[in-house]
Amino acid sequence: QAKENGRGLVEVFDVDASTRSRDRLDIRSDLQRALERNQLSVHYQPIWALDSGEIVSFEALVRWHHPERGPIGPDVFIPFAEETGAIVEIGRWVMAQACRQLVSWQQRFPGRPLGINVNVSPAQLRRPEVAADLLAAIRDTGVEPADVWLEVTEHSYVHDDVTQWATALRASGAHFALDDFGTSYCSLAYLKRFPIEGLKIDRSFVSGMVDGSADRSIVRAVLAIAESLDLRVVAEGIETEEQREMLIELGCRTGQGYLMSRPVTADEATALLIPVQGSSHRLTA
Ligand code: C2E
Ligand code: MG
Ligand code: MG
Ligand code: MG
Repeated sequence: QAKENGRGLVEVFDVDASTRSRDRLDIRSDLQRALERNQLSVHYQPIWALDSGEIVSFEALVRWHHPERGPIGPDVFIPFAEETGAIVEIGRWVMAQACRQLVSWQQRFPGRPLGINVNVSPAQLRRPEVAADLLAAIRDTGVEPADVWLEVTEHSYVHDDVTQWATALRASGAHFALDDFGTSYCSLAYLKRFPIEGLKIDRSFVSGMVDGSADRSIVRAVLAIAESLDLRVVAEGIETEEQREMLIELGCRTGQGYLMSRPVTADEATALLIPVQGSSHRLTA
């Protein structure tokens, strides 16, 4: 028992714990101000047509550059933002940024079909007012709502409020895709209750697919479900040429991953859209 091991040790534990909780408090309060201090930015990861090598959409991924701690990933700070409610403002801002960026790409590359994917967290879905809020952000930018895909995760609550929430956005023309598909137990129920039009196959299945027959079967099954329910499929986390080829073979038409491109700044993303003279647009790693 810690107490019997002497006072010093107990203090060490205490300092540790209090440092950790101070850290958490700091991050929480810093996050409240991150937006107004311009510490957030949006990066874009292209989503490709796997066969033609054309970019069909970009996924907007938020980044936080903390002045002292450096870059903090969304996997770390989004949960804090959900806890404090800052996610509402951050989510609205990301949506507006991403839609404005899409409009600017569409103006620069007219006639090129291009969409934008924006992540929406469970905490946003849980608040009824956020639907109207996001819709306003979409409309204000002048983007065609049909070019906007909202990515929701499976563990988001599916209750009647959420269904209403989604219906209002869906009515505007915007689409919903289920992110990280297959990682949660309620996936299939979700498909019935939510106006879902797309699935994103979770990276874990894509990475296990080449060596593991179970993962490959799951990918095949997801593609079959998608086909029969008329859903669009995006494979996430493609890191090797082998994975890309196998996905094409299995009939998966679109995907994203480090093999083709990491998430990049808006300017770098623009450069990816400029056709390379005399060659196809396909990129290598
Ligand atoms: P996600 O929506 O599933 O996004 C995919 C994540 O996988 C991204 O991490 C992306 O950088 C990473 N990724 C893409 N291709 C590869 C690959 O080939 N290999 C590997 N290992 N990773 C790859 P990121 O940007 O750190 O985002 C993590 C999560 O944070 C996202 O997962 C999403 O759930 C959340 N998130 C990011 N931006 C936002 C946002 O604006 N709003 C909300 N609510 N959540 C966000
Ligand atoms: Mg996503
Ligand atoms: Mg995902
Ligand atoms: Mg994820």
